[in-house]
Amino acid sequence: MYEVGITRRFSSAHRLRNYNGKCENLHGHNYRVEVVVYGDKLVNGMLIDFVLLKQKLDGIIKFLDHAYLNDIKPFTELEPSAENIAEYIYTTLSENFTGRVHLSCVKVWESDDNWALYRKDK
Ligand SMILES: [Zn+2]
Repeated sequence: MYEVGITRRFSSAHRLRNYNGKCENLHGHNYRVEVVVYGDKLVNGMLIDFVLLKQKLDGIIKFLDHAYLNDIKPFTELEPSAENIAEYIYTTLSENFTGRVHLSCVKVWESDDNWALYRKDK
């Protein structure tokens, strides 16, 4: 099995509504997003073209970049935590993978030290 990953970045503001601490205040992060896909078969020596994978992720990230996440669905109701952002990106991105390439996980770094990973139970 092969695994291929990419990393992209975006900057956004958010606040956690049901949190008692400094994260309930409006603040921003320079997020880093890692996406990993997997599969058994290569085509022309590649599992997936990095350019294509980046295009798919960029289509989602453009909505999150330089935005106030609390104003964007589903974060108008869902806490815009790193965990929920990872699940949102995973779910939105997974619609693109129905063939020989499968989505493994999405990891969202909120800072250099903190990250959350979402992976669907198989
Ligand atoms: Zn935060």
